[in-house]
Amino acid sequence: MELYEWPAHRIHRGLVTGEVSAREVALATLDRIGQVESSVGAYLHLRPREDVLADADAVDAALRRGESLAAFGGVPVAIKDNMCCRLLPTTCASRILEGFHPPYDATAVTRLQGQRAVLLGNTNMDEFAMGSSTEHSAGGVTRNPWDLGRVPGGSSGGSAAAVAAGEAVVALGSDTGGSVRQPAAFCGVVGLKPTYGRVSRFGLVAFASSLDQIGPFGRDVRDVALLLGAVAGHDPADATSRPAEVPDFEAALVPDCRGLRLGVPREFLAAGVSPEVRAAIAAAVDLLVELGAEVQECSLPTVPYALDAYYVIAPAEASSNLARFEGVRFGRRAQGTSDYVEMFRRSRGEGFGPEVRRRIMLGTYALSAGYYDQYYGKAQQVRTLICREFEEALSGYAALVTPTAPSVAFGFAEKMDDPLQMYASDVCTVPINLAGLPAVSLPCGFSNGLPIGLQFIGRAFDEETILRLAYAYEQAADLRHRRPPIVAPRG
Ligand code: GLN
Repeated sequence: MELYEWPAHRIHRGLVTGEVSAREVALATLDRIGQVESSVGAYLHLRPREDVLADADAVDAALRRGESLAAFGGVPVAIKDNMCCRLLPTTCASRILEGFHPPYDATAVTRLQGQRAVLLGNTNMDEFAMGSSTEHSAGGVTRNPWDLGRVPGGSSGGSAAAVAAGEAVVALGSDTGGSVRQPAAFCGVVGLKPTYGRVSRFGLVAFASSLDQIGPFGRDVRDVALLLGAVAGHDPADATSRPAEVPDFEAALVPDCRGLRLGVPREFLAAGVSPEVRAAIAAAVDLLVELGAEVQECSLPTVPYALDAYYVIAPAEASSNLARFEGVRFGRRAQGTSDYVEMFRRSRGEGFGPEVRRRIMLGTYALSAGYYDQYYGKAQQVRTLICREFEEALSGYAALVTPTAPSVAFGFAEKMDDPLQMYASDVCTVPINLAGLPAVSLPCGFSNGLPIGLQFIGRAFDEETILRLAYAYEQAADLRHRRPPIVAPRG
């Protein structure tokens, strides 16, 4: 295994024993970025090479002084461009935040820096995290490392692609309706959406506040467990973060599923899920049974309405959250306007891309007087039913097993003209955000060389069980050493 392919836990061991230096690790990743970034396009902003190396040198110096090393000390990491970080511009891949340098750091970023992680840069995404392909970015596209003619998924496509391509060891993304898990599935890496309230949202630019969570990406389950542990925990700066104790997630990783009852909700395998995804999930279920799990089919009858409810609730919250971008306090301001109203209107019109404008209009409509009960009120009722059904199912099962996405990665421009088709790629992930539950995606097979994602959904604040399942599956299926080819773009 090349040094740039080492997982974080291997790097940690190498640093502690003196087998490698943090500088060597940083150089290996920087060289890898130099080789493949022009093909993949995972990053929006990279820190200067000398700053990255200076951070790595500081870790080596601390080690020489005999200081102890945290799990991510000296590990090259990337963050999504919607997490505030004083070392970088934070733009949410939007023109409206062009050149914005946040005056403070997101709590998740502070925690990683507190461990002396080596921050490389921030990654491409759909504008304001609205999308499923990273095509809605003012910063250009990110290509899927497994097939450069296809999307990496979204909205955290840059983070997923960076980890898959070896351009970062681990990365953070955000997941409002699937934006960590779906790109993880498309790029053949592991991605986890924590329970709502597990990780602080302080400094994460809000899309839909009742759904947003920051989540980890890694090339294996152990790295994802460790990264979750590094960023999780109560934060007084985020009123929705919960004072739940943070367990040792790594300790939950045991390689069997004995004594675990799992449910396979049939609604997640309904029409629209491709035959190759179905086949891969069926094979994964067989392997889980071999590993000692007891698996049964179950039903969550309201889940088929989740996508509709999500696409009312998420735009409604977004229309309110995005009202603050008016060209005065943050980012870009339209020039040559004659009064305030024109300035607001033109700044927003020029600054937001088409998908963000669509969401603001959808959300404003859903919240407007006379329609509120019909749309927003109704969607909230559906959300309540979905929460109850998950709670009921998870009282009988330790976790639920589903596909992460209904298909493998699709081609560029394939769904850009048809928003409903684009939204449908979230069909297996949004129900979990509505219910606030944790879920993890990991590779469970390939179709024509493209990865397929398996999703485990757990009880609230029980990330340990889904991590254990993912770990047991990963060890037995042994797909984690398969790496994307990254062949130079055609023509
Ligand atoms: N693709 C979904 C959307 O467009 C989810 C995005 C996300 O999780 N941030 O809303």
